[in-house]
Amino acid sequence: MILGTTKLLGVVGYPVAHSLSPVMHNAAIAQLGADYIYLPFPVAPDQLKPAIAGFQAIGVQGFNVTIPHKQTVMPLLSGISEVAQVIGAVNTVAWTDQGWWGTNTDVIGFMAPLKAMNRDWQGAIALVLGNGGSARAVVAGCAQLGCADTWVVGRDPKKLEAFHASWQDSTLVPRLSVYPWSELPVLLPQASLVVNTTPIGMHPKVEETPLSQAEIESLQPGAIAYDLIYTPRPTQFLQLAQSRGAIACDGLEMLVQQGAAALELWLQQPVPVDTMRQSLLEQLQGK
Ligand code: NAP
Repeated sequence: MILGTTKLLGVVGYPVAHSLSPVMHNAAIAQLGADYIYLPFPVAPDQLKPAIAGFQAIGVQGFNVTIPHKQTVMPLLSGISEVAQVIGAVNTVAWTDQGWWGTNTDVIGFMAPLKAMNRDWQGAIALVLGNGGSARAVVAGCAQLGCADTWVVGRDPKKLEAFHASWQDSTLVPRLSVYPWSELPVLLPQASLVVNTTPIGMHPKVEETPLSQAEIESLQPGAIAYDLIYTPRPTQFLQLAQSRGAIACDGLEMLVQQGAAALELWLQQPVPVDTMRQSLLEQLQGK
């Protein structure tokens, strides 16, 4: 129920109509009986600054940030966590005594299902397909897990080199190498974790896969195939990898866990992750 005391949370993006965050957060808020509501805020790029000043004026407690504002919001904040600075993107902002404070919960979200597998990551090689926005959180997550090395494969040599250079002075990601896609036959058999951060295989092009059948057959048995995509579940990549003996992990848990980490930050209390996951599953299944 919305009362006179109800505090505001939300997501700012453009567009935001497709966002699953309101469903997930409001389900958790209802389960907790917390006096909050989470709203979608469609804000055009040239309106971000006045929108954030407006959030302060009306006492918004915190908000998520999605495309196209994840980078442009950064100079509008009073403080930014180290992880968000290193990744170069903010997805969660909280109001504090010092003003707006931004962080990035995608790293926590990415790592959560991998941590739940209770593996020893020392000596593990992580292979990341793609070098876009989400690859940055993935690379930071692989390093935090303790992977011995992270190899990033990209199709555009200039972007790949810029990606590599951006981590050069980073203590968070000490070991990172970049390769063209043509190197995959050499790289794949050595990797114990392969993460697809490209949109290849995402709805509606569900028959596509970032790796060919032959490449998937060169995976180590027991390797983890992780696809950030959550529509469809599983992707063609994960289906093929699983039939080869790999352990499949789709992007839904990352989505749930990055949201749970944000809500925990705003509410300063544990949040019902199962409720958040269930609400997303129902939304994705169109129930
Ligand atoms: P992005 O910034 O646009 O990066 C996409 C990357 O994929 C780029 O490096 C791009 O290469 C590469 N790529 C695209 N098409 C390709 C192709 N046909 N062949 C080879 N490389 C290709 O996108 P993003 O924000 O990282 O998102 C990527 C995917 O992750 C999306 O499917 C998104 O839904 C998913 N995602 C999931 C979560 C989650 O919580 N589960 C979170 C974030 C993202 P170029 O730079 O050369 O174009």
